[in-house]
Amino acid sequence: MNAAFAYTPQDPNLLQIIEKVSAGQWLSQSDGEALYRSADVHGIGRLANWVREKLHGDKVFYNRNRHINYTNVCALSCKFCSFYRKRGEDGAYEMPVEQVIEVARKAHEAGATEVHIVGGLHPWLKFDYYTQMLSGIRAACPALHVKAFTAIEIIHFSRIARLSIAEVLTRLRDAGLGSLPGGGAEIFDDRVHDEIFKGKVREDKWFEVHRIAHALGIYSNATMLYGHVEGVAERVAHLIKLRDLQAEALQTSPASFNAIIPLSFIPDGSELGHLPGPTGLTDLKTLAIARLMVPNIPHIKAFWIMQGVGLSQLALDYGCDDLDGTVVWYDITKREGQGTTHQELHVQDIKRLIREARREPVERDTLYREIVRTTASAAQVPAMV
Ligand code: SF4
Repeated sequence: MNAAFAYTPQDPNLLQIIEKVSAGQWLSQSDGEALYRSADVHGIGRLANWVREKLHGDKVFYNRNRHINYTNVCALSCKFCSFYRKRGEDGAYEMPVEQVIEVARKAHEAGATEVHIVGGLHPWLKFDYYTQMLSGIRAACPALHVKAFTAIEIIHFSRIARLSIAEVLTRLRDAGLGSLPGGGAEIFDDRVHDEIFKGKVREDKWFEVHRIAHALGIYSNATMLYGHVEGVAERVAHLIKLRDLQAEALQTSPASFNAIIPLSFIPDGSELGHLPGPTGLTDLKTLAIARLMVPNIPHIKAFWIMQGVGLSQLALDYGCDDLDGTVVWYDITKREGQGTTHQELHVQDIKRLIREARREPVERDTLYREIVRTTASAAQVPAMV
């Protein structure tokens, strides 16, 4: 346990919040909004860093992973999305199952412990495509953890296969699914939903998928896409809803959320391209506020694809304890790649970024168990659940 938080904030309105955080009390909606109103970003960052150090000391986690976006063909047209294409449109693609398995196999050979697989809601691919993908990866590399399919994809599968969500998740798990990523959460608010992702399910369905996954022993993550048409009150409410869902999972289920990933909205190429997108200070503040508002989800991830490499490094002093990851290919948004889908950070660069931030780099697997390597690529990975 680190020492008591000692800092006199520039903003006196933060005093009461500091007292609550120091006492381990949960912050309210109005506390969260006060944090956003405050100009003392660095004071908020210090407080978030105090919480982060209490949980993880100087450790910063990273993982060797490979993202695979199996198709960009999607039945929906979310306004914030620059990824989707309609079938036959220029740039539309779908990867055959064998290709996905081959990419996963090569990633594992190169030292990856995880593949992160998500895609659009393809109108014609059958449910078998997804189960064969998982069982093929399991057969080719049994130790590789497959984190795959956002809640909206799971609901899509339940519609095309005419199965309940529990049945879909059970079949996917039996075929090789290790855990769920956190995407598709966007902002849990009906106004925002109706304005920019109306075709997607509302928050209750997203909650249902993660609730059922947790009950089945499948761990998951949770995202928050910020910096588009939402306001700060909606961001805070989103975080509180995640905190409540996690409290429920910790009480009732064998699995829960591992990490929150606040995603900085990148307007380029989307229908919301006229919006400016979040500033660096908004990014830092949001990451820090996520740490402060949700103390019961253990990890806050700086995803360098969205926040940028430089800001993600700085975020390690603003509440974040995880710098994700090697990534390699990412088709959904492009910032660091500047127009290319090859977006990769090498392990040596990740470690250098972490050490320069005066932290200790710790390689983890998907479930945040520490990994020891005997050679550059041979990972001593704990038994997969
Ligand atoms: S965000 Fe997902 S569901 Fe929405 S259009 Fe893009 S790929 Fe499709």
